[in-house]
Amino acid sequence: MSRSQPRNPDLHCHSNVSDGTLAPDALARRAHAQGVDLWALTDHDELGGLLEARRTAEELGMRFVPGVEISVSVATQTVHIVALNIDPEHPTLIDGLQQIRAGRDQRARDMAAALEDHLGIEGVYAGALRFAGNPALLSRTHFARLLVERGICHQTHEVFSRFLTPGKPGYVEHEWASLDDALSWIRAAGGIAVIAHPGRYRFSATEEWALLDRFKSLGGQGIEVVTGSHTASQARKYAKLALEFGFYASRGSDFHSPGESVCDLGRLAPLPVDLAPVWDLLH
Ligand code: AMP
Ligand code: MN
Ligand code: MN
Ligand code: MN
Repeated sequence: MSRSQPRNPDLHCHSNVSDGTLAPDALARRAHAQGVDLWALTDHDELGGLLEARRTAEELGMRFVPGVEISVSVATQTVHIVALNIDPEHPTLIDGLQQIRAGRDQRARDMAAALEDHLGIEGVYAGALRFAGNPALLSRTHFARLLVERGICHQTHEVFSRFLTPGKPGYVEHEWASLDDALSWIRAAGGIAVIAHPGRYRFSATEEWALLDRFKSLGGQGIEVVTGSHTASQARKYAKLALEFGFYASRGSDFHSPGESVCDLGRLAPLPVDLAPVWDLLH
C-alpha cells in the first residue's frame, strides 16, 4: 500500500451485505467516482462484502482497507466499534461476528411482533426481509424501509424517531457483544479499533470519559472525528478528546444509500490538521 497521504479517505460505509442498498461492487465504484482515494467497507457485524469490495477497488486503483462495524453493548446503550485493516480470515473474528449475527434474527422477529401489535399491520418480518440483501443481517434500517414503503412514514429517519429508538414501541432491547470481547477479536485479527460516531451516544460526560478510558485500556486506538453523523461542533469536541486521549482520528461518511444518506461517500470536511490521522497506522 502506498505511504503517501490520502487526499480523500472515507473509512466508514455500508453495502447491501448489511444495511446499505448498494452491492459492494457498486459502492466501490461510487466511492471512486466521488474522489475517494482510501476506502474502507465497514458493514455491520459481517465480513461477507470485503472480497468483492477489494476486487473492484483494486481494479479502479483505489487503496482499500478491509473493515467491519461491530455492535457492542455498554451499560444499556449500543456502541459501534469500527475495526480497520482486520484480517477477514481470522477465525476468532469470524466466530465472534457469527455470534452477534445469530442474535439478530430473534430480535428481528420480536421487533416485527411489536410493530404489528402497535400498528395493527401484518407481514412485517417477511416484509423487512425483502429489503435485506443478507438475511443474516436484518437491521432496524430494513424495518424502517418497509414502513416507508407502506406509507406509514415519509422517511426512514422518521420511522426511527417514532418507532425504532429506545422507549419507542418497535424498539427491542438487545445484548450485543461486550466491549472487551469486540476489542479482543479486533486485536486477534490485527485490526485497528476506532470508536464510531461518538457524538451519537447518550452518555453523561463522566460516562463518556469512562468509555474512552476503558476503550483505550483495551487497546483501542482511534476515534471518528469527522463523520456524516457529527455536526461541526461535535467534530471539534471529539478532535479535542482525540488529543487528550492520544487517539488517532478517523474520517468516514457512514454512507448507506443514495436516497437516504445525507452525507455521500467522500463528501466530508478534512480532519483538523493537529490530529494524528488513523491512516498513519496503515501499512
Ligand atoms: P441495528 O444494528 O439493527 O440496531 O440498526 C442500526 C442502524 O440503524 C444504524 O447503523 C443506522 O444505519 C440506522 N439508524 C440508527 N438510528 C437512525 C436514525 N435516527 N435515522 C436513520 N437511521 C438510523
Ligand atoms: Mn447502519
Ligand atoms: Mn454505526
Ligand atoms: Mn455505520
